[in-house]
Amino acid sequence: MLARIPGKTDRLIVLASHFDTKSGIAKNFQGANDSGSSSGILLELARVLKHRAPSETEFMIAFLDGEECRTEYGPHDGLHGSRHLAQQIYEAGGATKVEAVIVLDMIGDKDLNISLPQNCSRKLVKEIFYAAHELGVRPQFSIGPGSILDDHVPFQIAGMPVIDVIDFNYGSAPGLNDYWHTTNDTIDKLSVKSLQTVGDVVLKMVENLQ
Ligand SMILES: [Zn+2]
Repeated sequence: MLARIPGKTDRLIVLASHFDTKSGIAKNFQGANDSGSSSGILLELARVLKHRAPSETEFMIAFLDGEECRTEYGPHDGLHGSRHLAQQIYEAGGATKVEAVIVLDMIGDKDLNISLPQNCSRKLVKEIFYAAHELGVRPQFSIGPGSILDDHVPFQIAGMPVIDVIDFNYGSAPGLNDYWHTTNDTIDKLSVKSLQTVGDVVLKMVENLQ
């Protein structure tokens, strides 16, 4: 599902989240953080950006399906929506017009520590650090220990600048990640403050990219 907020130029910023949840976990699996949190924030970002329009850049708000793999990530399992959209933009000749693809995933954890995967564009990492610094929340943003296969990857392969805003440390203690893809991924693990922090930083970042 795509929404477009027209801008004054043909430059484009893509804001994306997957809205599917992992299948086959349990009947009562909620997926509150993965990916209720980022889907919710995307709706709010769309509302705010529409209110501020027109910006210099156009905004594409992308709700991606099929991020989660059914058995194991591979060419035909997982990242379906992002692969499709990246290809669409690329084939329409739009890849060079893309200023940034900002993927949001698992951003609602009460204990918010955004750890950016190493396979993000350096320029956008600097931009998000600067925006976080401006808002006084820089300590909650860092670079993680490795790369992550997420929805930003197909866009990166298609030559677009990407960033994956993710807190992939979601559990009862550091390093356990035991709320991820389990029935513990419930709304009580999230906080409005975390959603607000990420939303504010992303808005500041896209403002700075104008
Ligand atoms: Zn997931």
